[in-house]
Amino acid sequence: MRVALAGGGIVGICTAIALRERKIDVTVFEPEEPAVRTIGGSACYLSPGEIFPLADPQVLRALPKLLFSRSGPLVIRASHLPHLVSWGMRFLAATRPANVARGVAALSALNARANDATFALAHRAGANAYLERSGGIHVARDTATLKALRESADAIAAAGMRVEALDGAQLREREPALAPGLAGGLLLPGDARVRDPIRFGARLAAYLRELGGSIVRRRVDALVPAAGGGWSVSSSQDLFTHAIVTAGAWSHELLRPLGYTVPLDTERGYNVTLPEPGVALNHPLVFAESRIAMTPLDYGLRVTGTVEFAGLRAAPDWRRSDMLVRMAQDYLPGVRCEDATRWMGFRPALPDALPAIGGAARHGELFYAFGHEHLGFTQAAITAECVAALLAGEPPAVDLRPFDLERFHR
Ligand SMILES: Cc1cc2nc3c(=O)[nH]c(=O)nc-3n(C[C@H](O)[C@H](O)[C@H](O)COP(=O)(O)OP(=O)(O)OC[C@H]3O[C@@H](n4cnc5c(N)ncnc54)[C@H](O)[C@@H]3O)c2cc1C
Repeated sequence: MRVALAGGGIVGICTAIALRERKIDVTVFEPEEPAVRTIGGSACYLSPGEIFPLADPQVLRALPKLLFSRSGPLVIRASHLPHLVSWGMRFLAATRPANVARGVAALSALNARANDATFALAHRAGANAYLERSGGIHVARDTATLKALRESADAIAAAGMRVEALDGAQLREREPALAPGLAGGLLLPGDARVRDPIRFGARLAAYLRELGGSIVRRRVDALVPAAGGGWSVSSSQDLFTHAIVTAGAWSHELLRPLGYTVPLDTERGYNVTLPEPGVALNHPLVFAESRIAMTPLDYGLRVTGTVEFAGLRAAPDWRRSDMLVRMAQDYLPGVRCEDATRWMGFRPALPDALPAIGGAARHGELFYAFGHEHLGFTQAAITAECVAALLAGEPPAVDLRPFDLERFHR
């Protein structure tokens, strides 16, 4: 077997490692620094407790208000609206209660194994120093939100993850830097944080090379089925037996010429990193009302959030990052925001908020792993294990049927 991976973000590099650990020959094509592109700016929160797909009836009810608020957690640029019609219709279908229940079950099964897979990989790769099982907290400002969070705790526990309710005083005890008056939260003790995503990614890429995997710093223009079987990759002379599309938010561009129409869009997200915040957090935090996250990194405090639908090519709207600064000041009195750096990146988003992991319907030697949306850092290692098992002819650790791309064509 000779496998080409198109895209060397976190999912591509983890998948290449899982294949190489099975002694399969791998070449990753990636034009940028490997294993860094999107995780480098992410919240670095390994949060398997997030088992509720974004497409749910609550989001649907809040949608009109969200769409007309320029400072809300979700915006759609008018220029992108026409491109979002079919994605939006599928999103609406995904909010039906039966579909939400299926989504929760699928994410629960994948996420339940996610952190163990990540820690085991980090151990093998020598990247443990960059991870910490810190636990994570979902914070509620008001009592109605806290009630909703507590109602979600049973489903998280049913998925096999520990969860503890915190009242306002218990929250302050764990995170004294938070503003007074917050209602409380949910503590997920098994959650984790990545202390330095750039070093973590670099170590994984180095481990892949140590295992004998190749990383070619070139973009794939097209994956072409070769006349005698196998795949040729536009930018290389070599012939491969198998190809895997791991190009994150760009994956549909490689699949379209092969006859696969994939409803992939991007939920663009922003961050600010505060190098000298002057306040310390002990856990990654997600704020339920504003949907922003804050994570202590080795080089500052990372504040991330917002979903912007504007496609892959529109310029960033840095007002979204500035908004994150104001929110950080609101939640963390006295936080210092001097020398903040700003960043925007592309979450690969399918309308039902489940990733696409599996084998292509009409090409026996073509596989895919993309569309992990808000959870790609969390799910990369377990996704990689599943894809490598598929190629090696082993049963995957997780039932992959919910993640089959054909779900959009039934
Ligand atoms: C603001 C923000 C915060 C986030 N926070 C978290 C978090 O706390 N926890 C979490 O679990 N997830 C988080 N995520 C989501 C997570 O970062 C993504 O889901 C994950 O990085 C996706 O990984 P990927 O490898 O599929 O895509 P990417 O990391 O985007 O990698 C895709 C790679 O493919 C390459 N590529 C594209 N086209 C081609 C081509 N034609 N040929 C070759 N290569 C190509 C790109 O250069 C890129 O390196 C966050 C995302 C954002 C934006």
